[in-house]
Amino acid sequence: MAKKVFIGVGHGGSDGGAAKYIVEKEYTLKTAFAVAEYLSGYGIDYKLSRTQDVDTDMDSKVTMCNAYRPDLVVDIHFNAGGGSGFEVYRSVVGGVSKTLAENINSEVAKIFPSRGVKTRTLDSGSDYFAIIRETSAPSVLLEGGFVDSKKDADFIKENYKKLAKAYADGVAKTLGVNKPAVNVLDKDGYKEGDSTIGSLALKELLLIAKEIGISTKGMNENRTVGDGTLAAVNFLLGKWGYKQNGIAGENFIKKLKAEIVRKVK
Ligand SMILES: [Zn+2]
Repeated sequence: MAKKVFIGVGHGGSDGGAAKYIVEKEYTLKTAFAVAEYLSGYGIDYKLSRTQDVDTDMDSKVTMCNAYRPDLVVDIHFNAGGGSGFEVYRSVVGGVSKTLAENINSEVAKIFPSRGVKTRTLDSGSDYFAIIRETSAPSVLLEGGFVDSKKDADFIKENYKKLAKAYADGVAKTLGVNKPAVNVLDKDGYKEGDSTIGSLALKELLLIAKEIGISTKGMNENRTVGDGTLAAVNFLLGKWGYKQNGIAGENFIKKLKAEIVRKVK
């Protein structure tokens, strides 16, 4: 099952957030969309607290987040108050929230000055931010630079996608998720639903591969390329470091034959 991340998009609608050289609510949304895109590249599922310029009160944001049952939570904000640089808030409890904060912080620090990982608490000692305190999954709040620093705002306008990539890379590292392979071995070839003499030959080849221990995946008994064959094709594509597109073409057959020959020699 794919890992899931809830992306809180700070402010929105009548709540513009902080504003000076840029308006916080605009860049939280832009950055969140970019984070989502980078997470998709890792095969990580996501849910955004908003996708338009609308109000979302904190209670419904927390409820939405917990209902989604994410593995991790990131809440995207920008700072104000006369400083400069990135900072990230983690839970006082530590744990995975702390790891996530540290992983994101070290990615951001490669591209933008960081004020570091911080905690903020209520008088009671529990976390100040509801998105950290009230969510079931480990959560961090990201302040991606100051909207009232001209230098930061210029960086954000130019590089919010780089910030987003740093956030996504830190998330992926925390989840132990590696980027899926992007190289395609065959664009055309046998795929699910095929029922030809060639697809039967492919099945036989895959069966041999399984019998001699090259592949662990089995296939079904009919003569089409079905779920079992598809699983075997994708298993081998993954093993060879190619994108698992379920297609076994000329290159696939060549590679599989070579591997079988190597193994039986
Ligand atoms: Zn904010």
